[in-house]
Parts: sequence; C-alpha cells; structure tokens
Amino acid sequence: MFGPPPTARTRSAAQLSFLEPVARLDTSPLRELVRRNAQNVPGVYRMIGARGDVLYVGKSRTLRTRLLSYFRLPWPEHRHARMLRETANIEWDVMPNEFAALLREARLIRAHLPEYNKRGARPLDQWWVIVVRREPVPRLRVQRASTVSGSRAGAGATVIGPFAHRAPLVSAVRVLNDALGLRDCADRVPMVLRDAGDFFADDARYTRTPGCHRYETRRCLGPCVAACSQAEYLTQLTRAQQFINGISDEPQVALEQEMAVASAQLSFERAGWLRDRLAALETLNAQLTRVREALSRPSFAYRVPGRANADWLYLVREGRVLADTSVADPHGVERLLALESQPPARATALTVDALEELTLLEHWFRTRGEEQLRTAPTIREVLTSC
Ligand code: SF4
Repeated sequence: MFGPPPTARTRSAAQLSFLEPVARLDTSPLRELVRRNAQNVPGVYRMIGARGDVLYVGKSRTLRTRLLSYFRLPWPEHRHARMLRETANIEWDVMPNEFAALLREARLIRAHLPEYNKRGARPLDQWWVIVVRREPVPRLRVQRASTVSGSRAGAGATVIGPFAHRAPLVSAVRVLNDALGLRDCADRVPMVLRDAGDFFADDARYTRTPGCHRYETRRCLGPCVAACSQAEYLTQLTRAQQFINGISDEPQVALEQEMAVASAQLSFERAGWLRDRLAALETLNAQLTRVREALSRPSFAYRVPGRANADWLYLVREGRVLADTSVADPHGVERLLALESQPPARATALTVDALEELTLLEHWFRTRGEEQLRTAPTIREVLTSC
C-alpha cells in the first residue's frame, strides 16, 4: 500500500475498529460537564477542538437532551461520534426561544465555518443566486445560495437573489453576458487585460488565442486575449449590475432595437432568435422585480413567547432581524421603536449574510404558519394584539 497514511476523517469504520484504544479519547468528562450544567432549554452549542477551533455549531429546543444524545452515537460509524472524539470542550449559550437559537446558530456558522457543519437541508439549499465576486475580471455566477453563504470565496461578494429555479436564471444570465460582452468561462482560463503590461504583445510567436469562440463572435470583450482593459470590462459589468438592480434596462432596449432591425430586413430567423433572448431577459427582469419588492417590504414586528413568561420581541426589516429585546425591558422596547421609526434604505442587492437571514426567515414562517399570527406591521401593534 502506498500513499499518505489515512487521517481520522478518511479512515473507514472497519479501519477504525482496529485502531489502538489510545485513539479513542475518553468522552466521559464532557458527558459529565453536560449532565451537571446543561438544562433542557433552547440554546446553541459549539464543539471546540483541541486547538480552540470550532468543530461544530448546533442548536436545540432541549439543549441537555440534544447534547447527551451525542454520547450515545455509535463510534466510529457516526461522523458526529467521531467529532466528539476530537472535541476538547463543549460550550453553549442559553437562548430565549427556538427562533433566537436558530438565528444565533446561523450567525455562528457564518462566523466560524465549522468543519463538521456539512451543507444540506438548510433553507439556503433551495435557492439560487447570481454572485459577483471581488476579482480582477468578475463574472456573473449562478450558484446555489448555500454554496455562497459561509464560503471564503463569498466574502465581500455581491449576491443577487434569491431565485427559485436555476434553468431560466442561467439562460437569462447567458443573454446578459452576451449582450454586454462579459466572460462566462471557468476560473482556470487565464485573464490577460490590455492594461496589465503584456511583454509579448508585439511578438508573433506569442499570439494569444481566446479560450472560446465568444470573442470571435463578438459576444465577449476578450479579457483572455488582452482585447480590453480592466476599466472597459468593469464598465460593462456595471451596466449588467445596473440592469440587475433595476436602474437601467439598456440591454433589453438594445435587444428590442436589434429585433426591430432584423424584422425590417425580413431576417425572420434572426428576429426569432432575438425574441427568445429578449424573453429570457424579461423573465429575469420580472424575477428581479419580485426580489426587490421582497427586499423593500416594510418592517414587521414578531413576538415570541419566552421561558417564564419572558416574551421576546424582534424587529424585522427587509428580510433581516434588525434588533431584538425582551418585552419586559422598557429600554429595549424604546430602542426598537426608535429603529422602527427610521426610514428604510433602498435595498437593491443582498449581502451573503442578509441572504441567509432572508431565506431563514422565509423558511421559518412558511413552515410554521402559526408563527405568522405572532407578527404585526408595527411594534405597538404586536405589543397590544399578540
Ligand atoms: S472569450 Fe475568453 S474571456 Fe471571453 S468567455 Fe471565452 S475564454 Fe472567457
């Protein structure tokens, strides 16, 4: 057998069963910690590794029961049982209710990117987004929302969405790319901008060839063959973003004009082709309008019954929890009232964090119809009616 020795994560269950007992860390001190100190209340917990790194973040309505369940998982078959053997400490925060625990869990996962928080079954998995990363020659990427949130590549990126269906989104982005000459190639294609200083520009031996046919068919500015400067490329990207943000309908108007010319020249095949592209852009525009409407929705207030009759109050604005407080705290309620009275900013694009919270809220209220009865348009109304 050649190759590097397997790590604890890559060993199969059969291999692990032959490990020396020394590899099986004693988890009884951790279990004792939980048994002595944890309560069956809503909360968020963190599994901390030997180097202080956060291995896993979870939440539960019944913290103690959930934490103790980890110690009954079959080892080494269950990945959380294996995680427990890597855990040096367990920390937890008691939360006023399950909703608070859900929000805190999402924010901690974003902050720590824990290794054992695998993707899947999260609200973000159901949605698609357009992502524009911070990079020298950015492109419009269509990605599952969950692949952006919590990823290092997603940091600082502009996220547009969420969208329910991938196929129409991909078609529309392709049309937009073609209309504005934006690249849509893979990351591995090297970019050579005209202003980047090309030592071989005048040497015929180093003639560059584009990575695909889009440059030759005039559907890409050709940043892979030094055919445009960065400023020229970014100008076109800004145009795409203005279309996406509802500031300009330039690509749509240009297609309409092209279609009119094709029809006038009796070039019906081309006119039909342009009509399909126009339809894709119109579909995208309609979806973007819905997203913008969702983002600019007026704020609402949400009152959640808490433990020991300590209800909790949330101020939600444009799909984000802006602030929260105990109903019993008059200063906290005043703070929320002051925030509520401030005019909302015009929302256009989302940040990754905001997207996660928007979809989390959407999932929470969609799957728990009774919770909508605890909401009202304003804080004063929710305090008197719920
Ligand atoms: S022409 Fe070059 S930059 Fe444009 S999409 Fe093709 S490979 Fe990418």
